[in-house]
Amino acid sequence: MSEQNKKIALITGANRGIGYETARQLGQQNIKILVGARSAESGKEAETKLKAEGFDAEFILLDVNDKQTHESAAKYVEENYGKLDILINNAAIAIDEMANDVPIAASKTSDEIFRRTFDTNFFNTISVTQQFVPLVKKSDAGRIVFLSSSLGSLNLHSDPNSPIYDVKLPAYDISKTALNGYAVHLAYELKDTPIKVNAADPGSVVTDMNPRGELTVEEGAKTSVALATLPADGYTGKFIHLGNELPW
Ligand code: NAP
Repeated sequence: MSEQNKKIALITGANRGIGYETARQLGQQNIKILVGARSAESGKEAETKLKAEGFDAEFILLDVNDKQTHESAAKYVEENYGKLDILINNAAIAIDEMANDVPIAASKTSDEIFRRTFDTNFFNTISVTQQFVPLVKKSDAGRIVFLSSSLGSLNLHSDPNSPIYDVKLPAYDISKTALNGYAVHLAYELKDTPIKVNAADPGSVVTDMNPRGELTVEEGAKTSVALATLPADGYTGKFIHLGNELPW
């Protein structure tokens, strides 16, 4: 593929964890990576590491909680590339409080924890998405991926036989449930366009967010990469973990 025809992908929170590895794996497919990060220092560091591996990477300042950076990032993409092929909404926080290693229950989780979690994982992630949808519409094969979690599944949470039944982080979980709802609605809105909109469950992945995870970041990034590179006849409006559909 010529440099001019290269696909352009923007990943939020790409300076570490699953987002960084997603950037690496897209780089391996000769996709240009815009490394979204809220800190210029760690974003540039990630850019340098990706470039050292031979990937076409470029840091772009994007703080999910700062609308001005959404606007400046979109302006930059518009002026330099004229379109965005792939948007991966990867950045998120998990700040539910613990007492004796057990998450604070739903009846005790504070307003503040719910609001801060929802601001990053839901409201401001929507705001990033809305800022970039017009640029994704300019791609001939746009893909939008929302990093969700099996912990966002109400079906799994209400099934005593599910492996996550006893894993309840109220603010984080419900912020991902809400995000799933948004993914379904956006997929519906865009169903008659080439754009595919899907939610990814990376699995339980060892990162700063989840030191007790089971999967490596290499495995954890696979679902995001698969959804970002779906073929023209691929699905939209689905919730996927490693090729398997999850219940909402
Ligand atoms: P992580 O290692 O904690 O990385 C989170 C990333 O998000 C960091 O780059 C962080 O940037 C960024 N971020 C947080 N708030 C931001 C903001 N306001 N603006 C821009 N960037 C921000 O987490 P991870 O495990 O890789 O998680 C990646 C995604 O997968 C998340 O959506 C998470 O919910 C989801 N997920 C993870 C697991 C798991 O087991 N790890 C399971 C299910 C779903 P800073 O470095 O600046 O803090």
